Formats: sequence, structure tokens, C-alpha cells
Amino acid sequence: MKLSEINGESGNIEIKVKILSLSKREITTSKGETVYYYGLVGDETGVIPYTAWEFPAPIKAGDVVQIKYARSKLYNDRMRLYFDSKTEIIMKPGEDIEVKRTYKETKLMDLSLKNLFVTVTGKISNMSGKEYNKAGNTFKIYNGFIEDDTSRVRISSFGQQLENGKIYRLVGAKVSEFNKQLELSIGDKTEVFPEEEDMDFERYYKLFEVDNPAGGITILGFIITLGTKSGIIKRCSECNKPLSTGVCPDHPDRPTKLDIFSYFTLDDGTKYIQCIAGKNAIMPFLGIKDADLPRVAGEIYKMLDDKLYGHAVRVNADFIKNEEELSLRVNSISAITKEDIEKDIRVSQ
Ligand SMILES: [Zn+2]
Repeated sequence: MKLSEINGESGNIEIKVKILSLSKREITTSKGETVYYYGLVGDETGVIPYTAWEFPAPIKAGDVVQIKYARSKLYNDRMRLYFDSKTEIIMKPGEDIEVKRTYKETKLMDLSLKNLFVTVTGKISNMSGKEYNKAGNTFKIYNGFIEDDTSRVRISSFGQQLENGKIYRLVGAKVSEFNKQLELSIGDKTEVFPEEEDMDFERYYKLFEVDNPAGGITILGFIITLGTKSGIIKRCSECNKPLSTGVCPDHPDRPTKLDIFSYFTLDDGTKYIQCIAGKNAIMPFLGIKDADLPRVAGEIYKMLDDKLYGHAVRVNADFIKNEEELSLRVNSISAITKEDIEKDIRVSQ
């Protein structure tokens, strides 16, 4: 028998597997202190978790064992093996098994550094390639976004181009953290499967529902404070650094450019959160263009105060994580429409 053939409850499983991990836990029951073991076993067809009430002492992770009289049962939606006093576990020294890696099917909202390799399904957007030279070889890295019905995150792909607007299932994509957000990458070992169906997304959330640095999220709320230092700032046109003196220490002869820096607190009735918004979010909302920035520099705070402070808005934003605290980096702001309110009522119900 192979692991992939185990399905449903059975009391008499005989199987050869490799012990992939082995942990021990002590618990106190009505009968006193007791110990159990748990971990993962694998074979050529898959990996499944186990719980063992008895375990022969010399066996360790990496060993191949023949198991007789094990039980199987669904636990938390996943098949699990159970070894008890009736189970025989026999070492197979010198034998090895090539274990098939499996990766947990994960929604983008649930990405975590605790699970570095995952299977995700999502739609690709804004993907473009850049060439790099390293040790005489040219290779291409593609950067863009992947989104599902829960979140949108950055994705990079080494050498392999994915088509914008298409849905892919990525088996063994890698999770990492960059710029206070989680992102995915596709490497040599990631399997890429184009999917047939299309997906459309409306990711409305209440603030209390989000505890992950998820991206592309829509929140409806009131702006309850506006940061007093919000306004026009100068940035280096080369490195984008904000310049308090007007001259970049690293690029003194490069021109500067104007940006808007604004920060405010958004309250959606379940929680409030700190937000930052730059010119890409603010200018369309205020109805101004790049060329207007020098002219409106003096009155920008008043414009923000008039149109943001105390108003109900619809914000599309990425959550970012500083230490344990989440805040929002705003992609776009708009006034709340009747349609938004209807959706909000539907989400709340
Ligand atoms: Zn610079």
C-alpha cells in the first residue's frame, strides 16, 4: 500500500514509509503524565501526518520503517495515521525512499513565514521582465502580482514568464518577506500549471478580520485624524529618498521631484488603523496632476483637510507589518458610492 491510497477510516494499514519528522509531547491526563509522538511520514506518493502513542526508541527522522496494524482517520480535514500499542514499527536499515513533496493549498491571505513552500492558485497581473548579467550569463527575472479572492501579493519568477490576466496553479511557490509585506517566488522546483477558468475579485474586508500583511484590500471607513505634517515633500529623482534639505546626499547633482506624503487614521467601525498615502493615491482623489504640484504646494494641507478629514471613503490598500502592528499603504482612495454601501451591508451580514 502507498500513502496516496489511504482514504477514509481504516484499522489495519500496512505500509513502508520514511519518517520525515518526529516530535514528542508530554501531556497530563486524568491518569497522570503521558507522552505521545507526532510528525510526518512520506513515500513516493505523498506525505501525511501521524500521531504515535508508542514509538520504538532508536527510530529517528530520516529512517525508513515498515509499519503494520496502523489506523487511519480524517483529522482537521486531513488524513492522519495513528500508531498505538498494537502497531508494529520495524526499522529497515540501509533502505531509502524518494519522498514526494507536497505543499499545502493556501489562500494568499493565509501566507505565512511558518510555511515557506505552498501551493497557490491566482491571477497574474503587471508582470514584466528584467534582464540580469551574472558571471557572463544573462538571465531574466519577472516581477508582478498574483491575486485570489482573499489578497494580492508580489510575485517574482526566475526565468519563467507568466502571462498577465491568466490563472495559474503554482505548486511549491516560496514565501518570503520584503518591504514589510509577504511575497512569493517561483524557482526551479516550482511547478506551474495554467488553469482554464477565470477569476474576478472583490476583496472587501472589515479591519478586524485582517491580521496578515495582505494586499489589494478594499476597506470602507471614516477618516478620523489627518497627520499635521501631511503635504508636499521633495524626493531624489534617482533613488526616490525623501529629502529634508532639498539635496540628495548620494546624488547631489540629480534633480528633485515633488511627491505628496499624507497620513491619517481610518476607522471602519470594527477597528481603526494608521494609513499612509502618496501622490498616486492622493492626486486622482483631489483632481490634480503632477504639473499642479508646485502651484498647490502651499494649500495642499487644506485640500486634504477638506476632502479627507471626517469623510467616509473607500480605500484600496496593502497591509504592511511593522513589528506586530499592521498599517495601510494606500493604493487609491475614492468617495463612497451607493454600490459600496450595499456591498458593505452584504459583507457585514
Ligand atoms: Zn538619491
